[in-house]
Order: sequence, then C-alpha cells, then structure tokens
Amino acid sequence: MLDFLGDLRRTHTCGALRVADAGKKAVLMGWVNRRRDLGNLLFIDIRDRTGLTQIVFDRETNPQLHEKAGELRNEYVIAAIGTVKKRDAKTVNKNISTGEVELIAEELRILNESKQPPFLPGDTVLPNEEMRLKYRYIDLRREAMQRNVELRHKITIAIREYLSSQGFFEIETPFMTRSTPEGARDYLVPSRVQPGSFYALPQSPQLFKQILMISGFDQYFQIVRCFRDEDLRADRQPEFTQIDLEMSYPQPERVWEVVEGFLQAAFHVAGHEIKTPFLRMTYDEAIRLYGSDKPDLRLPAMSDVRDAFTPQNLQSLAVSAKLPVVAIRIPKVGELSRKERDEIKPMLVAKGKAKVFEDFKRLEKTFPEAAAKIRQKSGAEADDLIVLVAGNGKPEEHKSESVVTPEVKQHDHAVYTAAGLLRLTLAQTYADRHGAFKRNDDPAHDFRFLWVTDFPMFEWDEEGQRWAAAHHPFTSPHEHDMDRLESDPAAVRALAYDCVLNGTELGSGSIRIHRQDIQRKIFHALGMTEEEAHSRFGFFLEALEYGTPPHGGIALGLDRIVMILAEADSLREVIPFPKTARAVDLMVDAPTPVSEAQLKELGIQVKK
Ligand code: ASP
Repeated sequence: MLDFLGDLRRTHTCGALRVADAGKKAVLMGWVNRRRDLGNLLFIDIRDRTGLTQIVFDRETNPQLHEKAGELRNEYVIAAIGTVKKRDAKTVNKNISTGEVELIAEELRILNESKQPPFLPGDTVLPNEEMRLKYRYIDLRREAMQRNVELRHKITIAIREYLSSQGFFEIETPFMTRSTPEGARDYLVPSRVQPGSFYALPQSPQLFKQILMISGFDQYFQIVRCFRDEDLRADRQPEFTQIDLEMSYPQPERVWEVVEGFLQAAFHVAGHEIKTPFLRMTYDEAIRLYGSDKPDLRLPAMSDVRDAFTPQNLQSLAVSAKLPVVAIRIPKVGELSRKERDEIKPMLVAKGKAKVFEDFKRLEKTFPEAAAKIRQKSGAEADDLIVLVAGNGKPEEHKSESVVTPEVKQHDHAVYTAAGLLRLTLAQTYADRHGAFKRNDDPAHDFRFLWVTDFPMFEWDEEGQRWAAAHHPFTSPHEHDMDRLESDPAAVRALAYDCVLNGTELGSGSIRIHRQDIQRKIFHALGMTEEEAHSRFGFFLEALEYGTPPHGGIALGLDRIVMILAEADSLREVIPFPKTARAVDLMVDAPTPVSEAQLKELGIQVKK
C-alpha cells in the first residue's frame, strides 16, 4: 500500500543529523539504500544527495510499524518520522556523516515503490558503462556521480561570480544560426517554413561574441553549449560546454589575467589554491623543448644534444647533422630489462622521419665522450632513462619549410614532435617509477599551468594543398608579420594563445582581426574567393565596417576542467547526460528515425 505525502514536511536532509539533534523529532525523505534484518530489529539506511541516515524499526516497541518496514525494498522512496537518538560508542559508524546518531522510527510512509534496479547506487562494483548510460538516473544516484555534479555546479557558479565581479555580462547567443568557423562539421536543423534551408547549431559563439564587441558590450561571457560533428575520439562529446569570453581593447596579457582569475576561483572551490600568473612559452619553444604545443611540464624538458657528437659520430650513427638529436629524460626509471628496452622502438611514431636510440648504455660504450656530455646537458641522474630521437634521412624541401621561424623547419618539427610523443608514451609506461603524475596536494606540483603563445597563423593542409587557419580565420596576425602575409605565410605568427594544464589543452583564444581590409587579406591568403567569403561571412564583413573596436577573447572547456578537478578519467563522468563514442544517447535512444509525416513537412527525403 502506497501512502501520500499529504502535508508532511521534510525537516532534515539524510546527511544532516548530528549528535546535537539527539532527542529531536525528525522527518527524513529519501531512497532505501540498504536494509539489514536482525529479526526483531530492522535497519534501513535512507539516502538522499546529502548522505545517509540509519533508521531503526523495533518489533518490540512497534510491531505494526516493523511489519510495514518489512515491505521495503531497495530504492523505494520513503518518508520516515521519528526521534533522533545518539548511538552507543560501540555502534558509531565513522564512515558516514550521521554515524553518531540514528532515527528511531515512529511512522513510515511508503511514497513509491521501485522495480529491482539493474544495479544499485550503493554497489561497490560498477556495471558496464552501457548499462550505466542506459539507466543514467540510477547511475546518477551514486555518491561519486552526485559529487561530480555538485562539483560542476560549484565550479560553474564560481566562474560566473568571478566574471560578473570583473564587469563581464553573461549574454546568450542563438543555437539556431548559421555555420561558424571552428573547422568541424555542422549539426543542421531543417527549416519547415523555408523548405530546403537549414540552420546550423553553433560550433562556438565566435562570430556572435565578436559582434557583441561591435555592439558595445565590451566584456562578454557565456557558459555555453557548442556542437561539433566530429569523428569522436575517446575524449570528445558532440555537444560540450565552453566558458566563452570576449573583451574589447585587451592585450593578450589582459585575457590571460581574466582566465587565471576565474581558474583560481574554480580551483579554490575544489580545494586547491593555485598561483598566478601562469608560466608562458612560445609555440616554438614548446615544440623544441617538449615536442608538443601542449607541454606536460610535470616531467623534464627534452634537449637537443646534436652538439655532443662529432660529425664522425653522427655519420657512423647515420644521423643527419642538419637535424636535431633530441634527448628524452624520464627520471627514476632505473635499469631496463632487455625486453623493456626492446619495447621502446615500436613506441616511436615518426612516419620514417625520425629514429630512436634506446640503448644508452651501448652508446656510452661506443661514444663515451658524447654520452657524458648528453648526461650533463640533460641533467640526468644515474637512474634516469635517456632515449635519443634523431632525424632520419635528409631534410626535404617543403612548402612550409620556414614554419614560424627558420630554426624550426618542417623536418625538425617532425623530429621534435616524434620525440615529444615518445616522451609521453614513456612517461605513461613508467608512471609508477617516476611518480610525477601522482598528486601530492601541493598545487604547484599537481597543476602545471602554462600559456602557449605565438602560434603560427597558418598550417599547410596537405590534403587540400593550401594554407589553412591554424586557429580560426578571425585570428589576428602579429603586427610585425603583417607584410609577410602574401610573401611568406609560413613565417606569420598569430596573436593566438592556448591555456595548457598538465599536457591538456584547456582552451584557446586570440586577439581578433578588427579591420575589414585585413580580414579580406586573410580570407585571400586562405584561398577563399571574394564570393566565397561573402557568402559565408558577408554579414560579419559588413559589421566590421561599422566601427569595430580592437578585441580578443578565449574559450575554455568546462567539462575538461571539471573532469580534472573531479579526478575523473572520462568526460562522461562529469556530464550528467553524455553521449557514447558513437554520439548516441543510450537513455533516450537518440538519434532515431522520424516519421514520414515529419519528413514531408520539412521537405526532406531520406535515401536508404
Ligand atoms: N571560438 C574559439 C573556440 O571555440 C575560441 C576563441 O577563439 O575564443 O575554440
């Protein structure tokens, strides 16, 4: 028999009762988390998002009530009315916040029953993820998920409050719009009123936020959903949330300051006091020292040890003197077994452009002087692992040979990035030995933030055989590189920056082009004809002509920030209703086919 709530009011949440409440009446509402039947005594743990309280039903004092409680099963929703009692020292449960008290039941209302769930929120062994996603409402009742959602809430509020306190306005921009320029595929929404026409869901509010600067809202932010139809890599979602902001008249440093401020606020609510300003490094340096544009600073940088070898040495190693010889050092790995050493070569991904020397002992025997110099240059201790990556073959002539600066040539770049990837693979493989990825509650060790600056403006797109925007086409080139736009696009640096944490890109942004003449030049450099530029971005080019202030901004991924702070291992752990790697929502079963009638109304025919 189910009961009604009637005018019964909850007096406490299930995690709230303390010793000071002993003797008080309490009304708790929540789910049956667990029952233990000891014959005359029946214990029920009642649960809500704040925690658990133990309720006691005693056959001797109230046989009828005890009998009713006997009907309770897992996940029934109940109201328990009773008196709070301090527990005996022997029975105190230190694992829960209410462990020093219990509720002696006087009345029970069964507000709803539950089918036996496919798994229980209190289970210690998790079911497979498909099951969790299909029954997401049960999964979200789990303590860990409740904690993640709460943390996400706190972080979001902290960021909002910080930005608002700095004079930023939160302004909404449309979801039904036209294609935006982040380089992924669009999700399209068909128009019924204009058959054959489509809205695109925004890949980001990029153009709207720039237009807000033209509109006089000189500091904008939005915690906003973005939609990108990409082939999903493990750690991506088709819809995700960005902390998006834009401001008028900023130097890049001003944007960084604002981001550092809101990250500090976000990390603070998660219990970590991070220091600002963050370290800064140019893209060139990042490539040379870490072989990556998102360096993980928790392990030592790489070093170019080409100079340690004589030209003869290099010749006998069949290594080009024109290319870097990169030493990777992973601390505290100790002596490797033969098998472990043999596993290193296959870790190198270099498309034939680089090769690896994994047996440093052997190098040491053949080239003792060079090896000593390498040890010294890379700052290696006796038990550190040193692996060398060197260029393979001759540096070829290449269209983007002079990318960024003459030193970082295309082939150099290939050697550095191959070394950078190998560094990360080795770092993962030997994580237990170097221990650098383990948190030790010192924010300066646990969270290595970094601004990577001065990205190249263009990337050579092999497939399309053309220059493509490395960030997006509204990014401003460096003032000093403006005259090279046509003559030497590879050498043009952008006023673009990324915020990086422990080898993960948290977000990227840039100072924008605010002049229509320069915007046209960039479109031209990107191989876009006037007509194409006009048909895609005509409205925007026109807006630029009506007094556009200099402006810039950035967007950071909220999901990723929460994931890091929750110490979760997937974005799906911090998004209440995520999609699978095949972009499916298993709970609502989306996407699905729609009815003929719906399609007809939209003027759409689906090819089978
Ligand atoms: N719209 C850019 C992005 O989503 C960020 C920015 O440039 O502000 O990556």
